[in-house]
Amino acid sequence: MDDKEPEFKEILDNISDGVYFVDRDRHITYWNKGAEQITGYSAGQVIGLRCMDNLLNHVTENGIQLCLNGCPLHATIADGKKRQAEVYLHDADGQRIPVMVHTSPIRDENNGVIGAVETFSDNSLVHSFRHQVRRLEDATLLDHLTGIGNRRFIERRLEIALLEFQQHHTPSGILFMDIDRFKAINDTYGHDNGDRVLRMVANTLRHNLRVEDAIARWGGEEFVALLTGMDYNDLGRMAEKLNTLIAASSLQINDSTVSVTISVGGTIILPEDDSIQSIIKRADQNMYKNKLASPNRKSGISNRTRKKGA
Ligand code: GH3
Ligand code: MG
Ligand code: MG
Repeated sequence: MDDKEPEFKEILDNISDGVYFVDRDRHITYWNKGAEQITGYSAGQVIGLRCMDNLLNHVTENGIQLCLNGCPLHATIADGKKRQAEVYLHDADGQRIPVMVHTSPIRDENNGVIGAVETFSDNSLVHSFRHQVRRLEDATLLDHLTGIGNRRFIERRLEIALLEFQQHHTPSGILFMDIDRFKAINDTYGHDNGDRVLRMVANTLRHNLRVEDAIARWGGEEFVALLTGMDYNDLGRMAEKLNTLIAASSLQINDSTVSVTISVGGTIILPEDDSIQSIIKRADQNMYKNKLASPNRKSGISNRTRKKGA
């Protein structure tokens, strides 16, 4: 460093962001006051060490260790490009702190990369704000009775599926499901037990879809599943599977083993100006056709205390 060093140090020590320099081997050559404050490590403790020496130990949200694999400083030294990343560093007390880091190359007079500078700012406020928004959002997209998504949630997912279909031709299908003769469940066992049946059906659906699929309670005793990458045949197989699994689920209510069946209608996103409304309408109509055509809808009467065929 040259004779301008004190001046530039004073400037860097007066900003609240953390700033540090590393050489090509990632030895720390400079560490400002902001870095001391955010991390709890003093300049004396870190200068000369390598940033990967079990010190800041940057990890991603998923716990991936960046020092050995994916370090933004390392990448910037290698290709001379600036980078930005949200990571978690390890402070002197051992806590994980969310930080936003920016890395830039340091070049010599011949434009060769001789190291890099990382600036980082404490991202805790942004982080906790985002967390709150996510929770709030979750609450407005949740069906509180069953714990699966609500109508707004599935409409959002459908919007995304429509965009993906238009832009990348990614196919998606939906299943519209309606519990058969659900009113009889309420009438026979009471509304609270009706709620238990709704939760049972929702849980069976939730546990038997793939992680990339979405499931919601559309309203009342109706459910909608969005299944990505499926054609009509896949949808038909999925409808059968869900139908069978729901019919094979049961609840003990007093002396009765209560189970329900569903009627299902499926459709896939079509190229001609499909919208959320048109997709839902088609699937609902198909469901209704199947309901009318089905001879053995059993809900509400499929318990041991009733006679067969009642
Ligand atoms: P179908 O076989 O033709 O589908 O007849 P259904 O009885 O299932 O359908 P219908 O539309 O006649 O009745 C639906 C019932 O669902 C009526 C309503 O009281 C009940 N329901 C709607 N929301 C809830 C809820 O949150 N909890 C309970 N327990 N019942 C509900
Ligand atoms: Mg209905
Ligand atoms: Mg019904």
